[in-house]
Amino acid sequence: MAITESSNKIRIKCRQCGRVAAADEFVIDYVYKKAVCPLCVKERLEKQYKQPVAPEAPTEKRKTRCSKCNFEFVYNLSKGTPVRCPYCNFTIKIN
Ligand SMILES: [Zn+2]
Ligand SMILES: [Zn+2]
Repeated sequence: MAITESSNKIRIKCRQCGRVAAADEFVIDYVYKKAVCPLCVKERLEKQYKQPVAPEAPTEKRKTRCSKCNFEFVYNLSKGTPVRCPYCNFTIKIN
């Protein structure tokens, strides 16, 4: 009589979620700091990836010169400011 592999597997209860899984599938998870079933790890990873990554507003600043009077100033590319040259009031065009 052959013993099938599945019936030979030891099944234990997960101490994190209470589900029963094969003992050899348990892993020591560094977050839970204990042996948990593969589903716990999967759920933890899914939660991790679902966390919205706060988009950091890029504040790109570039030193530029007024094309009319050659006055040098810092132009904020993300805000599009200043709109006009602080010196001669000439409308700034950034390529
Ligand atoms: Zn579990
Ligand atoms: Zn100017």
